[in-house]
Amino acid sequence: MVKCPACGFESPDGASWCDFCKEPFAKKAAPPEIPDAPPSGPSKEVLARAAQDAALARDLLRSDQDKIPAAPDWLRWAAWLLLGAVVIFAMTMLGIFLAKRSAWEDDAAVSRRFEQRP
Ligand SMILES: [Zn+2]
Repeated sequence: MVKCPACGFESPDGASWCDFCKEPFAKKAAPPEIPDAPPSGPSKEVLARAAQDAALARDLLRSDQDKIPAAPDWLRWAAWLLLGAVVIFAMTMLGIFLAKRSAWEDDAAVSRRFEQRP
């Protein structure tokens, strides 16, 4: 077992960082900075801090969910209208392009017919 120098948590041999606090280990297992650290497991201070952080994260998450309002109905309708307008515009441009192309092809066919006359 490798004891974390930061929190005292015991990680499996060969671990590159602490399983509990993610403190990176030196290549050669360094002796713990505090000789009187608890024999196993994280210290009470670290556990208390982790519990505080978890509670704080939960509170932040909850308050964020309360703060973000749902999109209002008019915004949803505006988005759908914009999407519809873009689709209609694209279809119109495609129709104009195809119509012009077929007109050009008709012109080319007429020209060929005239050219083929003796
Ligand atoms: Zn640690």
